[in-house]
Amino acid sequence: MISPLFLHNTLSGKKEEFKTQSPEVGLYTCGPTVYNFAHIGNLRTYIFEDLLKRTLYYLGYPVKHVMNITDVGHLTGDMDMGEDKMESGAAREGRSAWELASFYTDAFKSDLKALNIMEPDIYCRATDYIKEQIALVSRLEEKGFTYKTSDGIYFDTSLVSDYNKLSHLPLEELQEGARVEKNLEKKNFTDFALWKFSPVGTKRQMEWDSPWGVGFPGWHIECSAMSLRLLSGQLDIHCGGVDHINIHHTNEIAQSEAATGERFFNYWLHGAFLIVPGGKKMAKSSGDFLTLENTFIAKNIDPLAYRFMLLQGHYRKPMEWRTDSALNALNGLESLRRRVSELKSETTGEGKLIEEFVLRFKAILSDDLNVPQALALVQEVLKSSADANDRLKTILSFDQVLGLDLSHSSGDSLEVGSLPEDIIKLLDARRVARDSKDFSESDRLREEIRVRGFLVEDTKEGVKISKV
Ligand code: AMP
Ligand code: ZN
Repeated sequence: MISPLFLHNTLSGKKEEFKTQSPEVGLYTCGPTVYNFAHIGNLRTYIFEDLLKRTLYYLGYPVKHVMNITDVGHLTGDMDMGEDKMESGAAREGRSAWELASFYTDAFKSDLKALNIMEPDIYCRATDYIKEQIALVSRLEEKGFTYKTSDGIYFDTSLVSDYNKLSHLPLEELQEGARVEKNLEKKNFTDFALWKFSPVGTKRQMEWDSPWGVGFPGWHIECSAMSLRLLSGQLDIHCGGVDHINIHHTNEIAQSEAATGERFFNYWLHGAFLIVPGGKKMAKSSGDFLTLENTFIAKNIDPLAYRFMLLQGHYRKPMEWRTDSALNALNGLESLRRRVSELKSETTGEGKLIEEFVLRFKAILSDDLNVPQALALVQEVLKSSADANDRLKTILSFDQVLGLDLSHSSGDSLEVGSLPEDIIKLLDARRVARDSKDFSESDRLREEIRVRGFLVEDTKEGVKISKV
């Protein structure tokens, strides 16, 4: 049974009931530009999208998820000026643009894995869909939406009456933003490149023949071409970070709807930024370049602590990153896992889902993914007087959405022989207490062991010890 879902749609500016067009929800999320590592701000957006996808699954919706990999055409300026990020990245690192793309795509996928982010059903690379992008530009040309300048084929935004329908900004304000990067040949400041010509006299590493000459696609056209191709008939939800609203997604909508004459995606969801103290968005340029590797993995901090930190805020609210954030997050996650592990040690067998809590969990998520409240519900389940087997089963079911790997205790199981003397003595005393069914004494001893830094779990295979 599918449960109702309400999502904040940037297009309408309101929370709306989600209605899918086909039995399988089409979900398109704008992926990375693979010229460098993702920073932890980027990863916030992918975690929000993962929570959305897992929520859809939990509520009973099958999902087809497509994510693009931008490996060409994203210029250093969002308004089609500056260098191609891939070509300049290749020059920086002394390898080919293709090698660069392959290296950073792998790095991106390994970040997703470390954060327990489900992979999309389809990854699509922009360079694998050049034919589709050229066809889409040709269609726009036939319909009279394009014009040519000395450096490319541009989309004439003045021909679209509702160009600002996603941003809800007055056109002058959108144009003001676009005016920063001067391109005097454009008819309107908001016009954007569909196809760029390779500069005369230079051979780019990535370039293709086209009806307009050798060149490469503009950044926005890839998402339109690939989503129209791969999610035809199921253009349900399109996501990205809030910085995509005014330019990238606005342009995707303008060109797709101009080409097809039909509405592009029905629901547009945008994740708020990870910000740095002072309120600015985290960016590759903001001081230290913070990656999952240098903030968590290299410091031996479980990367899922970052996921846990993000789950504590709503996806539409900015969240601040501070120097103590990683360790605070780790403490929070470990204390939650510890409590789950303690609960596990109280269980005697397979439990059943506690319906009242599951219904509340679904209701909380269906209110525009209220994940912080879902985390509070986990605490409530932990504290409830319901049967331990059922509580564990229910919490582990919630973890299908939370993705915190709660069924694992914080460390690997340790050999008793490798433990300090005092811990071995306490374990022996606890075994004696359990053998004589003195459970309050055995619980007290387990707590004493925990305070000294070790977790005790009673499993079917025997007692397991791990570091807190
Ligand atoms: P890019 O690789 O630059 O195309 O960015 C990948 C994704 O990260 C996009 O959806 C951006 O909107 C998003 N993004 C960029 N900076 C941040 C940030 N500081 N916080 C959250 N998301 C971000
Ligand atoms: Zn996109």
